[in-house]
Amino acid sequence: MRATDQRVSEGCIFCKIAAGKIPVERIAENEELLAFPDIDPQAPVHVLIIPKKHVTSLKEVSDWGLIGRMHQFAVKVAEQKGIAQSGYRVLINTGLNGVQTVLHLHLHLLGGRVMRWPPG
Ligand code: 5GP
Ligand code: ZN
Repeated sequence: MRATDQRVSEGCIFCKIAAGKIPVERIAENEELLAFPDIDPQAPVHVLIIPKKHVTSLKEVSDWGLIGRMHQFAVKVAEQKGIAQSGYRVLINTGLNGVQTVLHLHLHLLGGRVMRWPPG
C-alpha cells in the first residue's frame, strides 16, 4: 500500500457501512466491493456499490481497474435483483455540479422503471 492510500476515512458513513458498524442489507459483497440499498431510493431498485477501501471520488481513483470491477459487480447485482432483462442505469456523481453528497466513491445502480433522460 502506498503512503497516500487511505483504508478508512474517519467519520465517513460508507466506511462505517463497509466495516459493518452501521447495519445494512449486504446485497452482495466480495473482498473489495459491497452492494447495499440506497436509504432514499429513487427507483424500485436503487443499489449503491462501493469499494470497501476509502476512495473519496472518481477524481481520486488511482487503480482504474477498480472502476471496471465496480461495473462488472453492478451487472451481477442487476441479475440478482431481476432487472438485467428490463434494463437499468449505472452512474457515478462527482463534485459539486454532479451533486456528489457522500464523499466515498459509489456507483448507483437504478432500475425497475423507465429512466428519464436527460437526467435532472
Ligand atoms: P450521491 O449524491 O453522493 O451520488 O449519492 C449518495 C447516496 O447515498 C444518496 O442517494 C443517499 O440517499 C445515499 N445515502 C446517504 N446516506 C446513506 C446511508 O446512511 N445509508 C444508505 N444506505 N444510503 C445513504
Ligand atoms: Zn469512506
